[in-house]
Amino acid sequence: MSKHQFQSEVNQLLHLIIHSLYSHKEIFLRELISNASDALDKLKYLTLTDEQFKSIPFQFKIDVEIPQEESKLIISDTGIGMNQEDLVQNLGTIASSGTKKFVETMSGDMKKDSNLIGQFGVGFYSCFMIADNVEVISRKAGEDKAYKWTSDGKGQYEIEEAERDQNGTTIILHLNDEGKEYTSKWQVESIIKKYSNHIAFPIHLHHFENKGDKDKPKWEKSSEQVNSASALWKRAKSELKDEDYKEFYQNLTGDNDDPLLTIHTQAEGAQEYTTLFFIPKKAPYDLYRADYQNGVKLYIKRVFITEDNKELLPTYLRFVKGIIDSEDLPLNVSREILQQNRILMNIKSTSVKKILGELGKMAAQDKEKYLEFYKEFRRPLKEGLFEDFSNRETLQELVMFKSTTQDSYTSLSDYKTRMKPDQKAIYYITGDNETNLKASPLLEMYRNKNIEVLIMDDEIDEIIIPSIGKYKDIDLKAVNRSDAAKDFETEKDKAAEKEIKGLIKKIKDILKDEVKDVRSSARLSDSPACVVADETDPTINMQHILRAMGQDNAPQAKPILEINPNHEIIKKLNMVSDTAIIEDMSYLLLEQSLLIEGATIKNPAQFSQRMNRFLQLAI
Ligand code: ADP
Repeated sequence: MSKHQFQSEVNQLLHLIIHSLYSHKEIFLRELISNASDALDKLKYLTLTDEQFKSIPFQFKIDVEIPQEESKLIISDTGIGMNQEDLVQNLGTIASSGTKKFVETMSGDMKKDSNLIGQFGVGFYSCFMIADNVEVISRKAGEDKAYKWTSDGKGQYEIEEAERDQNGTTIILHLNDEGKEYTSKWQVESIIKKYSNHIAFPIHLHHFENKGDKDKPKWEKSSEQVNSASALWKRAKSELKDEDYKEFYQNLTGDNDDPLLTIHTQAEGAQEYTTLFFIPKKAPYDLYRADYQNGVKLYIKRVFITEDNKELLPTYLRFVKGIIDSEDLPLNVSREILQQNRILMNIKSTSVKKILGELGKMAAQDKEKYLEFYKEFRRPLKEGLFEDFSNRETLQELVMFKSTTQDSYTSLSDYKTRMKPDQKAIYYITGDNETNLKASPLLEMYRNKNIEVLIMDDEIDEIIIPSIGKYKDIDLKAVNRSDAAKDFETEKDKAAEKEIKGLIKKIKDILKDEVKDVRSSARLSDSPACVVADETDPTINMQHILRAMGQDNAPQAKPILEINPNHEIIKKLNMVSDTAIIEDMSYLLLEQSLLIEGATIKNPAQFSQRMNRFLQLAI
């Protein structure tokens, strides 16, 4: 017998499970049955693909037993099993780095969210919520020796040699007070039906029934299959009700909510396959992490192949959950080859078109529901604009943006219908804060002319806009760039520009190290000045993003300062000859414009000195 310590993260996890998740304690059974089903899947795969296992007759089943009179629950399977090494590795450590991080960062409300438990593969340990002692007796397929793993979930476990007739795993739960209720046949049966009905293998429940009467009990063992053990996605669509999909979805994802959208496709003809996709109502917390959990499982002829193949759908659709089941792929296709497999690539591209098509339908038929979707998943969806060239046009119809004239998100096509007859472009402003953007002086002219400007305040917008470029031959123009205002320049503006030519030259000399150029502005009405980026330079927001991404040596593009020739301050400044005042003013105009656009100023102390000199004059 050997004694082992749990990895410290396991202890943390156990603590978390026992103290935070006990209100959902029944899920332990879902977790153990799902592990048993995975173990059977793994073995089934080997018997179909590996010569060594082909000849061995296995009976694939899961048994749940409630023994008579004892406070125990036993779950066993005839799956792949574990040897000594596997037991240490699988039931003594947390393998996935994602789960480790998750345990470290879990706090506050998240602790109460039992949905997360299944998502992170911490399933097995959940049995310590209802058991004070757990025995795992396992024998690995193709090996002779069996081992027993025992633990009370308090820091240590033991492993010793044991006996088991055939390969597979038996888990004996010595129920604690919290777990006593799981000796009820009715209770256990309803939990299995609730969570594990579509598990592809039969689950038999064994229990004792009193065939006598109260005074003279006569206990007899009885057994029955409690799940439907069929692959739901293979059943005719006409047979399936919303409830069936919902239950399947919850079982698949561990989400307690209903899915927002269900897309079930049974393709026949040149290629035969089934896909069943779901879009959840809420985005999972790891959606933006590099090690996000992939949501689609691949089956070949109902045999589970893999769930960690991130190529099954493009990355930008990583929020889609579900299954792909192909009739045409060879079972022993290697995972590496899957990547380039033509059949699978075809399923993938038709699936993407189908999903985007259904989203388009939703947007057209039920805007409210689409907005519910869009608010959760707009960022990954927008990634598609530069990731998926072949569906760019469809994606252009699916993305929406906030706007200066609309209360809610608007699509580009809706914007187009509201364009003024002589409007040359679709205008937008980018930045990280909607309130600030809406107050930007850059929007003054557009507001005066009643021209709508799209507000793009997601970080990713700055990056995807170049991939949109044009929408149906209409240019998209950033109002914080030099060119956008040219569309509106009039003779009057040119005349006004002439008036301040001398002043512009003076300011340019003073600010020559700070700005790329100083120009007369056609886009301002209430503000004296603004800064814009030159056409091909990164905007201030883009420079922020690049720096946040760790690109410290990202080019520091100088802005263009535009001054408003019709503004009182500029008009008066035009008449001033005191060079000290012109210098102070030049800096103040530039620095306040930078502050409004969310940039930092180089020398705040000097800024405040200059401002105080003017404040003193005003008092
Ligand atoms: P997960 O199943 O999400 O990986 P668990 O903590 O539930 O996380 O299980 C850890 C590992 O232990 C599994 O990945 C699997 O390798 C192994 N395991 C658990 N139960 C069984 C079982 N019944 N048969 C074979 N292996 C098992």
